[in-house]
Amino acid sequence: MAVSGAEVSAGLPALPDPATDSVLASGLVEELSYAFGGPFHFLLPDAFDANLRAMRGALEDAGVAGFVYYAKKANKAAVWVERCAAQGAGVDVASLGELREALGHGVPGEHLVVTGPAKAHDLLRLAVRQGALIAVDALDELDALLSLVAGEGAGHVTRPARVLLRALPPGQPHSRFGLTEAELATAMDRCAHAGETALRMEGFSFHLSGYDVAARAESAASLAELCVKARTLGLHADRVSIGGGLPISYVGADDWRAFLAARHDGHFHARKSFEDGDFYPYHSPVAGADALRALLAHRTGGRALAAVLRDAGVRLLLEPGRALLDRAGGTVFRVQGVKERAGYRLLTVDGSSLSLSEQWFASEYLPDPVLVPRGGAEETGGAAGPAATEGTYPSSVGAATCLESDMVTWRKIPFRRQPRVGDLLVYPNTAGYQMDSNESPFHDLPLPPKVVVDRTELPRPRWRLDRHFT
Ligand SMILES: *Cc1c(COP(=O)(O)O)cnc(C)c1O
Repeated sequence: MAVSGAEVSAGLPALPDPATDSVLASGLVEELSYAFGGPFHFLLPDAFDANLRAMRGALEDAGVAGFVYYAKKANKAAVWVERCAAQGAGVDVASLGELREALGHGVPGEHLVVTGPAKAHDLLRLAVRQGALIAVDALDELDALLSLVAGEGAGHVTRPARVLLRALPPGQPHSRFGLTEAELATAMDRCAHAGETALRMEGFSFHLSGYDVAARAESAASLAELCVKARTLGLHADRVSIGGGLPISYVGADDWRAFLAARHDGHFHARKSFEDGDFYPYHSPVAGADALRALLAHRTGGRALAAVLRDAGVRLLLEPGRALLDRAGGTVFRVQGVKERAGYRLLTVDGSSLSLSEQWFASEYLPDPVLVPRGGAEETGGAAGPAATEGTYPSSVGAATCLESDMVTWRKIPFRRQPRVGDLLVYPNTAGYQMDSNESPFHDLPLPPKVVVDRTELPRPRWRLDRHFT
C-alpha cells in the first residue's frame, strides 16, 4: 500500500555486523523461537572480547597504564563476567548480588570496583574482605567504612579497605553522586589520618552522564593533579577512574542525520511525541575504543591527557558497560498478530517492552528490527530508504500485554515486505542495557531466556543457555 511520505519514518538499519548476519543466515533464530515458544535474547561473547581488546589497545598505544572494569549493570548475563575472568578484566559492581556473581564466576576480588551510593554494610564488608576497590560516594560512607575496618581489625581480618574517592563532576553540579571539592579535602584528611593499615586511598573516580569526551578528559586531568597533591598527605593515590559513557554507534551517520531532520510525530503510532534529545545518540562520529583514543589524545593545559597521566604516574581505570557490549547480541520476538490502521500496521509480538528497556525511559530503541519471514530470508526494515514509499509497509510494534503504553516500537518502521503472523523480528545490538534492566514477569509471562552463541560461523553456530537465566 502506498502511503504519504510525511507519515513514514526513514529507515534506521543497524551498521553491518557479520556475526549477527551469520546467526540470522543459519536459521538458528527460527529454531530457537520455536524451541522456547517465546522471545529470547542471543549473546555474542566474541564481540565482547574484541571490544575489550580494542580498549586495551588504545591504552597501550597511548602508553598509558590502565585497567578495564565491565559495568555489570548493563547486562545481567553470566557470560560477560566469565569473559572478564578469562581475560583478566575487572567488573564494576553496585550490589551484594553483583559482587557475589562476579566472584562466583571467577573474577578475583582485587579486580572488582564497587560503585553506587550509600553502600550497604554487608556490601562494604564483603568488598573489604575480598580486597575490592570501593568508590566512596559520601563522607558518611567513608566513616562507615572506617568503623567497619576498625571493627574487623578488632577481630581477625586485617586487610585495609581499598578506596577511590568519587568526585562530583564540576560540569554536573546537580548530580546526586560524588563528593564536592570541600568534601574531597575533608575525605583526604580523614584517609590520611586513618593510616594505611586501615585504609589505602588509591585515587579518585567520577562518572558523567552523557557522552562528552572533552568533559571526561578535563575531569581526568584535574583528578590526576589531585592525586599528586594527595600524595603529599602520604596517600597512595595513583589511579583515576573515568567511569563509563564511551558512546557507541548503532546506525550510519547519513541515516541518523536523515532521521533527525525528518522526524515528526506522524512517524510514530498514536502521534507519540519525542524530542531529538529524548533519544540516545544512535550515531556517534567517534565511538567505543576510538572514543577512548580521542580521550587520551585530548589536549588539556597544552598536553595530551595521556601525557598528563604518565607524568603524574596515574593509571587510568575505565568502567564501560554499553561500549563493551557493542554488537554483542540481539533480541528476537515473533509476530503474533497484525492489524491495519490508517496508513500503517500494528504488529503484536510475543513479548513486552520490558525486554527492550529503552522504551521505559520516555525514549525509543531506534535501530530497525530485521524482519525474518516464516521460513525465509531476512530483510532489514529500513533497507528501502526514505524515497521508497511505494511498496513499504510501515509498522509499529506492540507487546502482548494489556497496557496501552507497552509498545516495543512506536515508530512506524518502513518494512519492505508485508509482515505476517509467524514472522520474526530481530532487534539488533541490544546487549547494552536493552535486554534486562527493566524486566519483570508481567502477566506471569516468563522472562526471555538468554542464548550464548559461542561460535557464529557457518555451517552451524554453536549455542548454549547462559548460566544466569533470569
Ligand atoms: C552505569 C555506570 C557505568 C557504565 O556506563 P556505560 O555508559 O554503560 O559505559 C560505569 N560506572 C558507573 C559508576 C556507572 O554508574
